[in-house]
Amino acid sequence: MRKLVIATNNVGKLNEIAAILAPLEVEIVPQSTLGVGEAAEPHCTFIENALAKARHASAHTGLPALADDSGICVAALNGAPGVYSARFAGEPVPGDASGRAAQDERNNRKLLEMLKRETNRKAHYYCVIVLTRRADDPQPIVCEAEWQGEIVMAPRGDGGFGYDPLFLIPALQRTGAELKAAEKNRISHRGQALALLASKLSAEWGAAVTKVAPRGPRNPLR
Ligand code: IMP
Repeated sequence: MRKLVIATNNVGKLNEIAAILAPLEVEIVPQSTLGVGEAAEPHCTFIENALAKARHASAHTGLPALADDSGICVAALNGAPGVYSARFAGEPVPGDASGRAAQDERNNRKLLEMLKRETNRKAHYYCVIVLTRRADDPQPIVCEAEWQGEIVMAPRGDGGFGYDPLFLIPALQRTGAELKAAEKNRISHRGQALALLASKLSAEWGAAVTKVAPRGPRNPLR
């Protein structure tokens, strides 16, 4: 079976990526299990950071690697925190799961504080997925998607990760953290981008990669 290294140590992201790609005949290998540390993300665009992470994982393992770069973009803040979503309230502690949860909470508190008197609550998540077949791949696979919503006044729900307790899906009147994992994966920015990736991979790697036909993006909200 083909191996695909996942270039993230974010457990929330990793769980979602593994669940969404489960129908594919591909062995998902978190980069940490191969001793690969986090890549630097010095760029001001999602695509550059995703490419840096995928290339870093391919370079260290000699294997195809998939990276996700994503974030939340708030209209009233001119798109902030955007690429800085993970470190909005300061640098996270690398590789520390409880550190990341505490970081998420600090980020959420900061965002709510900044929007305290704001009536425009519109926001969207953005996700770009990059797959490098090898470190010097001249034509990496790139898939992107957005998920539109609004920022609530106080956190709701305990599912998902990151900004999910603040991110309301207006048509469902539930936050990302109030959705079941499978529900979120069907409509989220990451779910949509990975569905596109699955169909591109099936076309390129052939029947060997498809156990079950990957579901296309189904977002009833757009
Ligand atoms: P990255 O690792 O630089 O791509 O940072 C992504 C950050 O964006 C995460 O740490 C979260 O703060 C936020 N984010 C991205 N996707 C989601 C999501 O699906 N739910 C909640 N927060 C997300």
